[in-house]
Amino acid sequence: MLRWLRTLIPAIALVWMSCGIHAADDFAPLRAKMINDIADLTAETGRPAIDPRVLDAMDQVPRHQFVRPGEERDAYENRPLPIGYGQTISQPYIVALMTDLMRIKPTDVVLEVGTGSGYQAAILSTLARVVYTIEIIEPLGKVAQERLQRLAYKRVNTTVGDGYYGWEAHAPYDAIIVTAAASHVPPPLVRQLKPGGRIVIPVGAPFLTQYLLLITKANDGTVSTRQILPVSFVPLVGH
Ligand code: SAH
Repeated sequence: MLRWLRTLIPAIALVWMSCGIHAADDFAPLRAKMINDIADLTAETGRPAIDPRVLDAMDQVPRHQFVRPGEERDAYENRPLPIGYGQTISQPYIVALMTDLMRIKPTDVVLEVGTGSGYQAAILSTLARVVYTIEIIEPLGKVAQERLQRLAYKRVNTTVGDGYYGWEAHAPYDAIIVTAAASHVPPPLVRQLKPGGRIVIPVGAPFLTQYLLLITKANDGTVSTRQILPVSFVPLVGH
């Protein structure tokens, strides 16, 4: 009996492990294609190459786990997908570009406004020390929190609230990302940014022309703004 168990247990472990490896590998070719598409688009737009660490993060995070059941195979296409409540998971190229613009260091404390599916937060957490993310639609925030816990993204902290006001308790931040379009740059976010820090935010009228902005705060506190490119985001609501 004991000998029989001795052979059976390693055999079960082996089958179980290979299932796990197989599941991860299923989407690896699609992820690789997504990374290629991002690099191609970057070249087409004439923008500087995306930091390889950002592309590596996007190669690690299983994007198909952040979309609705049945849409896993579409997850790696370069377009946004619906996540419920009229909201979307941003397209891979925009996630890569915004993350790249943040210039995250491994010691950074990062704030995200607009948790949505939790995908952007997962990407940020592979690059930063800690990520705080805030979502205004409670059921979306809850689903994202459960998902991030299940996938063991331990460096992400979620909350439900109006991110226009930032998340004061953990400020100041090295970098802030807003993943919904605001009519203006929220002053509380500028206040919660460290000197030397960066905010990446789409600004413009809902469903009209919006621009991705890069806001930098110099060490003397001077704030400057650079327009990056036209984008299309769901609106930042609340406040
Ligand atoms: N970063 C997300 C994309 C989410 S789309 C992802 O990776 O999936 C933008 C999100 O911003 C939506 O979920 C929307 O509900 C949320 N949002 C809009 N206004 C907000 C506000 N004032 N505070 C926090 N979240 C907000």
